[in-house]
Amino acid sequence: MKPNLRKRGIVLNKYVNLLLDELSGKIAKDYTLEIATYHRVQASPGFHEAALYVQEQLKKIGLSKVVIEQFPADGKTKYWTHDAIISWKVTHAEIRMVEPENLILGRFNELPMSLATHSNSADVTAEVIDIGDGSKDDDYLGKNVVGKIALVSGGARSAHIKAVEHGALGTIHHPPWNRAAEYPDLVQYNGIWPDQKVRDKVTFGFSISDRQYQRIKKHLDSGKVVKVYCNTDSKLYDGYLDVVNAEFTGTEKPEEEIILQGHLCHPKTSTNDNASGSGVLIEIARAIKTLVDSGKIPAPKRTIRFLWIPEFNGTYAWMHGHQNNLNNIIATINLDMVGEHPVTVGGPLNLTCAPDSTPSYLNSLLIEMLKDVADEPRGISLEGWPYGLNYRVLGYSGGSDHVCFADQAYGIPSVMFGNTDQFHHTSFDDASRVDSTKLKRVGVVTGGAALEIANANESSAIELAARTYSYSHKRITETTSKLIAEIVNIDPKSEDYATRLGIRYIRGLAMLDTACKREKKAVSVAQRLCDSASSYIDALLNQINDLTSAQKTILQTISEGVASKAGVTIPEKETDMIVNTMKLIPKKTYEGPTRGIRADEILDEEDKKWFNANSMGTPLGRTTLELMNFVDGKNSVYDISIAISLEHHYIEPLEVKRYLDIHNKAGKIIYI
Ligand SMILES: [Zn+2]
Repeated sequence: MKPNLRKRGIVLNKYVNLLLDELSGKIAKDYTLEIATYHRVQASPGFHEAALYVQEQLKKIGLSKVVIEQFPADGKTKYWTHDAIISWKVTHAEIRMVEPENLILGRFNELPMSLATHSNSADVTAEVIDIGDGSKDDDYLGKNVVGKIALVSGGARSAHIKAVEHGALGTIHHPPWNRAAEYPDLVQYNGIWPDQKVRDKVTFGFSISDRQYQRIKKHLDSGKVVKVYCNTDSKLYDGYLDVVNAEFTGTEKPEEEIILQGHLCHPKTSTNDNASGSGVLIEIARAIKTLVDSGKIPAPKRTIRFLWIPEFNGTYAWMHGHQNNLNNIIATINLDMVGEHPVTVGGPLNLTCAPDSTPSYLNSLLIEMLKDVADEPRGISLEGWPYGLNYRVLGYSGGSDHVCFADQAYGIPSVMFGNTDQFHHTSFDDASRVDSTKLKRVGVVTGGAALEIANANESSAIELAARTYSYSHKRITETTSKLIAEIVNIDPKSEDYATRLGIRYIRGLAMLDTACKREKKAVSVAQRLCDSASSYIDALLNQINDLTSAQKTILQTISEGVASKAGVTIPEKETDMIVNTMKLIPKKTYEGPTRGIRADEILDEEDKKWFNANSMGTPLGRTTLELMNFVDGKNSVYDISIAISLEHHYIEPLEVKRYLDIHNKAGKIIYI
């Protein structure tokens, strides 16, 4: 059967069209596999070598503006509220079982991630003891770890520090059951990531597979003493974070920038994460350079900047070093894990959209381009997957560098391409998992969007605004349909029916008003790309006002309909308590990007319990990254709860208040 692909030539965007012909998935894959050979842990000599490799390729391509910038990685320097990480180097590591049998468990030369990142030198033979998770004090009850090496499966940093505090010489990390169940030979990438406070406590840690762990466990269960020999030559030191920075300087508006970035870090063999994004970035630069040199496209009007960075830590450092120019950045696209093979990995490519706190044309532009490229035959690469693209468009979430740029401090529209990948941060993320077709499609869309924005003029800005408007239309009407579904599904027999209906109705109207503001902002951002005010964009904004009024009328009609059927009257406003409390306006007390609060900074025990119960993975926890983006000194607690309910899922204003109160007590925000 023939693959189900669209016919050639119906891709509309001219840059996407040209890149489909020029950009090579195979070349992107070659760069990717080469980068993966470096043990490129953040702020380490291996990272520096990888940075030199990237710089060399860019120079070969003919890019003239390429530099490696350096920022202190000494544990002491502050990038706003973020502490610099500590540099680390390793030359040798080996772990071997010596009793009751002789067996190599890991060698740095074979698999560098056998040694936990940030380990210090060691040369010891000692008994091992199985601790379980190892990240809580309770795990050590009744166990004497003094002078022994602790087998742990908990988070590497917390388990290592805990074990050492209890007297262990070092740690051996094995994967938790959920990872090990399907892949017994998989070794996890573990890093201790000490800050200055625990720098002196770090000893050494090794990572082994579940199969190796089970072998040790069998000996221990049968009452035998297990001894291991650990030898490493490695150390923490005060060094630097490297950032490779390359640019096509804009010919007309050089100060306005589009940033394409990816993190270059992670251990050797870590291929999709993120040698893939780094490799594609080089190939995008090569393809654009070739198109410009051959005269097929003009040199970009606005600057396109490429950054290869150490994830998060390097991004904050780079932003801090360039803070006076950050307001000139008009969009960023983050590539983090973009080569996953449809067969050897399987998961879809994900476009993580820019958050509602930074509305713009960026999401709709990328969604349309993805749609165009997904089934386009020219998107298929040499030696790559020969069928269409499996992808998802997802709402905003964190986990990578787009978060730093999207943060309220600078509010730059920022998206991420990534991939669902069960081999993330393991020895199984290797060359066999990379697909050149996927790399090509991501490269074409990313490069196409960058060129479209960089070259936007009056008419293409109107095109962007019009596309954004059609997307806005969809988002507003979808909000109404979701609100209606909620309203008609409240049980009329429930005791507080009228109140519940009232809350959904009143907050539903507020959500539609918020959606209206958001979409008007999204459409009007294209105005920044025009030289003069566009009456067409103004007309679109009026359309959004009209649409919102019509949607509010629909909501009102439905709500009154169900209320009268149930014989109740809908309350017309929120209770005084909600109204008064929610007028408070939170404001951060510090400069720069948000510094998330940690449980150990919360003094009140009740608060700490509540915070832990509402942290990562819980309904509220999933929204807090974006929630903090709305803390801008203008939005009230009520506004924030409405915005979050609109973007994520329904969140009570009192929950938002409680979350912010904890920040307030810790001195991170004040109410104005
Ligand atoms: Zn990553």
